[in-house]
Amino acid sequence: MKTYDAIVIGGGPGGYPCSIKLGQLGLKVVCVEKEKPGGVCLNWGCIPSKALIQAANTYERTKDGAAIGVKVSGIELDPNAMQDWKEGIVKKLNDGVRGLLKGNGADYLEGTAKLVSKDTVEVTLKDGGRSRSPPSSSTASRSSAPRRRSTCAQSRSACSSSAAA
Ligand SMILES: Cc1cc2nc3c(=O)[nH]c(=O)nc-3n(C[C@H](O)[C@H](O)[C@H](O)COP(=O)(O)OP(=O)(O)OC[C@H]3O[C@@H](n4cnc5c(N)ncnc54)[C@H](O)[C@@H]3O)c2cc1C
Repeated sequence: MKTYDAIVIGGGPGGYPCSIKLGQLGLKVVCVEKEKPGGVCLNWGCIPSKALIQAANTYERTKDGAAIGVKVSGIELDPNAMQDWKEGIVKKLNDGVRGLLKGNGADYLEGTAKLVSKDTVEVTLKDGGRSRSPPSSSTASRSSAPRRRSTCAQSRSACSSSAAA
């Protein structure tokens, strides 16, 4: 069983900056994310949607360019290339979030976190099945308990509010 000062559930725009800040403040912190670092914003919301909107805008502007004296022939959409471009951006930023967490002293764990008591979080690791009870030797899931410090409870409640645990 690993112990932490703070366990942040969710690595979205709420959770990962919170983890980074706690790391910068010198707390032993882990950010647990069940999908991918960056949350909805980076993986499905703001970033991918804006990338696809940018591609669509480029197509539209080019298509209608004749009106402003820019004539382009043979313009066509390649949805697969658009998706690949968007995925490349998302992947780069996923890696960026991982790097920022690591660089600021925060651990990162990919799995589903569950509060099993007031100071213990059980994590079912993404690549290790869905076991709920975590034997300490197992890699399928882990339990993490915060160390008892006065700042700990405060940090945890602040962080967990940004996640849908
Ligand atoms: C299509 C779309 C476009 C958007 N565009 C914009 C925009 O342009 N600008 C803007 O400001 N906002 C935009 N948003 C909103 C933005 O995505 C959210 O406001 C933001 O993601 C919220 O961040 P969060 O960290 O609170 O939650 P989330 O991003 O939802 O992150 C929570 C994370 O917690 C994880 N999690 C949940 N439960 C557990 C658990 N038990 N264990 C481990 N991990 C868990 C989830 O997997 C998730 O990654 C958009 C949203 C959508 C859907």
